[in-house]
Amino acid sequence: MFIHNKALMYTVRVGATDPLLASLLSEQFGGPDGELAAAMRYFTQALADDDPGRKDMLIDIATEELSHLEVIGSIIAMLNKGAKGKLAEGAEEASELLRSLAQGGESHHLNLLFGGGPALVNSGGAPWTAAYVDSKGDPTCDLRSNIAAEARAKIIYERLINVTDDAGVRDALGFLMTREVAHQKSFEKALYAIENHFPPGKLPPQDDWGEVYFNMSTGEGDSRGPWNKNGFDFREAPDGESADGGDGIPSVELDSDEQEACDAAAERQKSNPETDPLTGAELPGAAQASRKRGGERPERRH
Ligand code: MN
Ligand code: MN
Repeated sequence: MFIHNKALMYTVRVGATDPLLASLLSEQFGGPDGELAAAMRYFTQALADDDPGRKDMLIDIATEELSHLEVIGSIIAMLNKGAKGKLAEGAEEASELLRSLAQGGESHHLNLLFGGGPALVNSGGAPWTAAYVDSKGDPTCDLRSNIAAEARAKIIYERLINVTDDAGVRDALGFLMTREVAHQKSFEKALYAIENHFPPGKLPPQDDWGEVYFNMSTGEGDSRGPWNKNGFDFREAPDGESADGGDGIPSVELDSDEQEACDAAAERQKSNPETDPLTGAELPGAAQASRKRGGERPERRH
């Protein structure tokens, strides 16, 4: 069950009304790397995980992400509060009210449509979607995805901190950013606590290909590094042949009915490379247009 405590996880002290900043912070309320996406990602993973320690960690962090959602949503609400009050009361000249709402980004959208409260949209106004959650139900996949998600959230918070000089907002965003770093560490530890964590799944990679690096892009800029050096069999790109040594031609076993139908379709749709037919692009009107552009009138060859 969820029990709510009215104290925010981190105290929000916003210095002044700033609808543009509120609009930018929406990224972490309703965006792909935002707090709702994080909470739903870990919550749904927790419900399906049978490992008691990992399940507990996932539900702890999911619940903390909901608490972050509350913090970032409260910052957005505080940044819009002054403008919201004046809009509700029609407290200023129309032109002044318009100016206070339309400060850039999606500030007009958030204030007019959502009344200044936090909305489940990203900073560009796109609605939140469950497609942001990419869990696969395998902890060695999902923990890696969680690590990447925390890394993205950390970077977005860092950029948001860099665009405001409101000390209270920077302080609260700094807390949220730091917690994402802590989550990343927990997910890294949880991943490595699975002894068989690489490669994901049960089937081993094929012997021939698991340690090969193909130099598929050739020319100036080719380089060697740890991603293709030690432990890798570095090979030049296959030149006109399949990596497996086969003829590289796709094939399928068809039954006789399927083969007959395919042959009939191929016969009906075959092209004649010997012909040079007159086409619509060469008819008189098209030819004139072509001449006006400096082209030659095409000769009719049959
Ligand atoms: Mn968070
Ligand atoms: Mn997190």
